[in-house]
Amino acid sequence: MAQGLVLLTVKIWYNKWVKMRENVLISKLTTMRLGGRARYVAEVTNLPELKEAYDFLRERKLPVFVLGDGANTIGRDEGFGGVLILNRMRGIEVVEETSDDVFVRAMGGENWDEFVEFCSERGYSGIECLAAIPGTVGAAPVQNIGAYGQEIAQTIDHVEAYDSREDEMVVIGRDEMKMSYRSTIFNTGADAGRYFITAVTFRLENDGWMEPPFYASLQKYLDENGISDYSPSSLARAVRAVRAAKLPDPKVEASAGSFFKNVYLSDDEAELARERGLKVYDKPDGRHMINAGYLIEQAGLKGARLHGFYVSDKAALILINENAKSYADLAAAREEIVETVFDKFGFRLEQEPVEIVAK
Ligand SMILES: Cc1cc2nc3c(=O)[nH]c(=O)nc-3n(C[C@H](O)[C@H](O)[C@H](O)COP(=O)(O)OP(=O)(O)OC[C@H]3O[C@@H](n4cnc5c(N)ncnc54)[C@H](O)[C@@H]3O)c2cc1C
Repeated sequence: MAQGLVLLTVKIWYNKWVKMRENVLISKLTTMRLGGRARYVAEVTNLPELKEAYDFLRERKLPVFVLGDGANTIGRDEGFGGVLILNRMRGIEVVEETSDDVFVRAMGGENWDEFVEFCSERGYSGIECLAAIPGTVGAAPVQNIGAYGQEIAQTIDHVEAYDSREDEMVVIGRDEMKMSYRSTIFNTGADAGRYFITAVTFRLENDGWMEPPFYASLQKYLDENGISDYSPSSLARAVRAVRAAKLPDPKVEASAGSFFKNVYLSDDEAELARERGLKVYDKPDGRHMINAGYLIEQAGLKGARLHGFYVSDKAALILINENAKSYADLAAAREEIVETVFDKFGFRLEQEPVEIVAK
């Protein structure tokens, strides 16, 4: 063995009930496939195990980071010297059903797309356009996931969560979550990282039919394929097909989905951008938005290869890790994109995925 080289082996053991692993590569737990080793990984499948994992890290004064499927999370080269808690709590149940509404509760470790399928196959509508978003149910509220004209702020009713500051279980209602574009109390402000979401309850419509027009690219697909069945299951299938044609499958290509957030503008900024010939969307809620992928494309970077990353030629907002092994490569690619867009348009793009760091 070369001098100074330390071989780290993954050790698996049970701390009473909870399954623990030591020295686990974060690159294996995140879809961008970057990141060094986590000191400990705890896989929790129920509330007593969750409590035990937090007791474990508190006793040792270690930092914590909660992880679902790692589809919106980036690991750093130095790894993480604390405990990654993986949410593996499963279960879906219909809690209450009337002729108009249905309340469906899913545990946080459920796969999001399987949950969408569970609901849409039963004719419950409100989340079908969010089909095929990778990740877990518990992570969905964190950045208020959205796609094809829907976001979960429209249908979430409440979450059940472990409040790690007060060491107690709490229920947080939709209004308390302060949901806006990719932002909630779970990822922004003083309470970011405070709650471990154990279950999410949605209030969906029970009538099983949606009214067109739908989001432009979805409508185009429906029209081109002669689909006039606007049931939740039919729309979810259409969304899966539209996404499969342009978005990378995390099992095949490494990415964290949209790498940058879209740019929101004030009225004056929007007017100025339009005068400069940029495509600005007026959202139904009165806000103005420029698509970050459009800015990257207009800056001539669509299809570019940068430091082991590929700016997808199907959706320029997606950065695919082709052969980069280090976070430093990602930082270099990110800087090149951000600076090029800034020099050209004066907008500084902001990264969407979160990074695993000790807080
Ligand atoms: C190919 C691809 C396409 C994507 N498309 C979309 C899209 O269309 N729309 C969209 O909004 N997103 C999209 N994403 C991003 C991602 O799918 C979502 O953000 C998803 O919710 C991440 O789920 P996860 O379980 O992988 O979360 P993780 O990446 O594991 O975690 C994300 C964040 O949530 C926190 N977290 C996770 N679980 C919990 C919990 N139980 N309690 C508290 N905090 C928690 C983490 O600490 C972290 O801050 C895409 C990603 C990929 C790879």
